[in-house]
Amino acid sequence: MLKVEDLTVSVQDKIILKDFSLEVEDGEIVALMGPNGIGKSTICKVLMGDPNYHIEKGKITYNSEDLLNMDVVTRSRKGIYLVNQNPIEIPGVSNADMLRSALECRTGEHVNFFEFNKEITAICKKLNIPASFIHRGINEDMSGGEKKKNELLHLYVLKPKLILLDELDSGLDVDSLRELSLSLKEYMGSDISILIITHHISILEYLKPNRVNILSDGKIIKSGDYSLATLVEKNGFRSISVSEEEDNE
Ligand code: ADP
Ligand code: MG
Repeated sequence: MLKVEDLTVSVQDKIILKDFSLEVEDGEIVALMGPNGIGKSTICKVLMGDPNYHIEKGKITYNSEDLLNMDVVTRSRKGIYLVNQNPIEIPGVSNADMLRSALECRTGEHVNFFEFNKEITAICKKLNIPASFIHRGINEDMSGGEKKKNELLHLYVLKPKLILLDELDSGLDVDSLRELSLSLKEYMGSDISILIITHHISILEYLKPNRVNILSDGKIIKSGDYSLATLVEKNGFRSISVSEEEDNE
């Protein structure tokens, strides 16, 4: 279980998140929505341990352990996985080489080359990803949508427990979005949790979140069920913050 408590985060002396709190239980799918530049990617980077983001105060625990004291590798070994909004390209390093090394690093065990090839080929087939992806450079010369599919291939190989989806839907055509969402739904289990960052309702239509949270002014200003996302889709984010101010009067 992930628990973020009263977190204040700055980037280059600018406060982005202020007294931000969030909980994601095992087996839950939780959505975080909000306009551009509000801090959605920031929370993903903080959860992953990006050193550019400075923790001013607050606490993050993952399965009752202090996450902020863990380095990136430890967080990954504990099963935290970020699907980046803009996956980076690493030319010259193939998916297969990186994934096999990552798997060995994660499990601490030797991964048999042939067994691994068999598994990754089966995953590609299941995810409808061309087998040529296996030996391509990581995200190298891939379209936006292909990069997202490639991230899903990584996810299926590394088998994380807490998945942070930072705008998986950006750059995906409708068919790919459906395919990837359904693959994620299939991956879901009672010990898996997903934090979905999105502007759009489409991905939530497939992944039906347990809770929808709206981020504004550095913190979650409103939480609700799926119907909150439909309200955002219909009336925009501004309608949510205005009604919230009225609620407080
Ligand atoms: P979004 O909700 O669109 O994902 P972000 O979390 O990416 O927003 O960014 C929140 C704010 O923090 C923006 O104003 C952005 O410009 C700023 N920011 C994020 N990362 C950095 C960085 N590494 N350096 C400078 N500013 C940053
Ligand atoms: Mg973002």
